[in-house]
Amino acid sequence: MKFKKIILFCLELIFPPHCIFCDKIVAPGTKICQGCVCAIKPVSAVRCMNLPDSGQNIPCAVLYSYEDQVRDSIIRFKFYGEKSNAEFYADQLSELIGNRMNASSFDVVTAVPISHERKKGRGYNQSELIARKIAEKLNLPYRECLEKIRDNPEQHLLPRTERMKNVKGIYRADKDLAAGESVLLIDDIVTTGFTLCECARVLLENGAKAVSCAAIAQVERTPC
Ligand SMILES: [Zn+2]
Repeated sequence: MKFKKIILFCLELIFPPHCIFCDKIVAPGTKICQGCVCAIKPVSAVRCMNLPDSGQNIPCAVLYSYEDQVRDSIIRFKFYGEKSNAEFYADQLSELIGNRMNASSFDVVTAVPISHERKKGRGYNQSELIARKIAEKLNLPYRECLEKIRDNPEQHLLPRTERMKNVKGIYRADKDLAAGESVLLIDDIVTTGFTLCECARVLLENGAKAVSCAAIAQVERTPC
């Protein structure tokens, strides 16, 4: 492990790393520039989302507000192939989950899925990249418990009143993978929370014992 770190450090001398947030070149061994360390204050909060119909509360850990450099960084990660950012987000989220949630109660980590077509086009599911790394860090298995069975318009492009309808019935859970398990569900951005709520509902309906969520950033406060 130490040897791997030395190799990585040497590589970063030749190919300097870029700030996760603003993309400026930073010193080897660092991930954020001094300007972003000062400017970006994590929210680091655990909020609750109320599942419509059941009234059940689902905790959701969130690292940042989705604005300014955080938004730019997630856009580069999600749409422009900066997959290496997943390691940083997973580090930060694992720490928050470890500090603020009962991480030892989780049995399995999963991610909010994207459709097969979108995954084929983009080449990866950004939430899955983070979820797999979080699973490694928390020493838990990663499983694809959920599947998105059809594409839908992006939540942030719709008026709030349409968003709950937009995600209804578009996810399917694998009973064999979710039943009896306490599931940690990972997403990249929380907007209204309807996507996470719908995924949690489907998991619980398919026998999951409990669902907790975590995301990099939140656009607006989830319904609570
Ligand atoms: Zn920066």
